[in-house]
Amino acid sequence: MQINIVKPFMPNLEEIQDDFARCLSSGLVTNNSKHVQDLEESLWRYFGSAIKPCVNCNGELALFNLIQAWKAKLGAGPHDSFEVLVPSFTFSGTINALVTNNLRPVFCDIDDGFVLDLNKIEIDSPSIKMIMPVGAYGNLCDLEQLGEIAARSNLAVLLDNAPAFGARFKGKHPHEFGFSEMLSFHATKIYNSMEGGATIVNDPQVADYLLRLRDFGQYEKVRGDVDLPGLNSKMTEVCALVGLRNLEKIEFILASRARNAARYVEFFGALEAKGLLRQMKVSPSVNCTYLYFPITLNEEATPFVTHMQESGVAVRRYYTATHDLKYYRDRYRSQDLTMTNAIRDRVVALPVHTVMSDEEIETLFDAVLKYFSSASSRRGSIQ
Ligand SMILES: *Cc1c(COP(=O)(O)O)cnc(C)c1O
Repeated sequence: MQINIVKPFMPNLEEIQDDFARCLSSGLVTNNSKHVQDLEESLWRYFGSAIKPCVNCNGELALFNLIQAWKAKLGAGPHDSFEVLVPSFTFSGTINALVTNNLRPVFCDIDDGFVLDLNKIEIDSPSIKMIMPVGAYGNLCDLEQLGEIAARSNLAVLLDNAPAFGARFKGKHPHEFGFSEMLSFHATKIYNSMEGGATIVNDPQVADYLLRLRDFGQYEKVRGDVDLPGLNSKMTEVCALVGLRNLEKIEFILASRARNAARYVEFFGALEAKGLLRQMKVSPSVNCTYLYFPITLNEEATPFVTHMQESGVAVRRYYTATHDLKYYRDRYRSQDLTMTNAIRDRVVALPVHTVMSDEEIETLFDAVLKYFSSASSRRGSIQ
């Protein structure tokens, strides 16, 4: 049996083909047509935000636009720069979206939940104007504490919640705390439209910028005049159709993933109790939606990764210490990164699919158990 790293949850062709056939025959395949509008309405109902979410072609450009809109809101032009507190431990896409907006990341540490360590960050320069926590693996930092820090230091809060669709803090979605967030609907994520993403904001001016930015920054369509330089980042109708059908099943998706993740927590909790590994720490205030199941080994992860792959279970070395990626190394400053550097080579993300048979879960657990029994016999033979 082979277990892939992801198994995207998809509608059947029959569920979208009539609608898509109409798109093709009418030629209305993009430019915020019917199904993109329907998807935005459905997301609006789901999230209950004050302002309707804005849908994009992918999460990265949604984040790029969100940063650009906030720069404009703060009165900074495209050539102006300032610093942004951001965890090093994330996907390169987080940092790329900042740097391509001419902003400078300040790499910060994470806590044992793999999210920005709010007790450790320092507002150590007046050039820091923004903070960008990441919803790593569907986990969230303390959003109340985040709000206090942001208010005290006058920071704009933008969440890269690409991995954390549906995650809640004390029962509430991040927008209910007044924050702006980006979500990814990529095929590998919790909820998907094949490719896609969205932003949810509370500020009407930022929301207005976001709508124009995805359409090249055009504020009128006859001459195509622009008042902000935007990048085309519109979702196509076929992605919106897949997104609509999947959103109809979101309660099933989240409940099924939660059930699977609960089995992992129990299984890996027993190994953690024996001191063999550590799980991601999830605060009782957080409803973590588990994109992958990360574990921290006591040792460098290569032997474990090789063993799992040989056992037919795909795993990923994800996330990563972005401050040490080739382009970013030595280019931007960091704060204390003790935790990030301690775990970066020991973290492995295990697959958690929406639909997973008992047999698949047991195959994965068996492979893990075999690793630790052979690891202990290896250790035993050395002693
Ligand atoms: C997936 C991901 C992105 C990118 O989203 P796409 O929709 O793939 O462009 C950005 N940031 C983080 C933290 C992610 O996990």
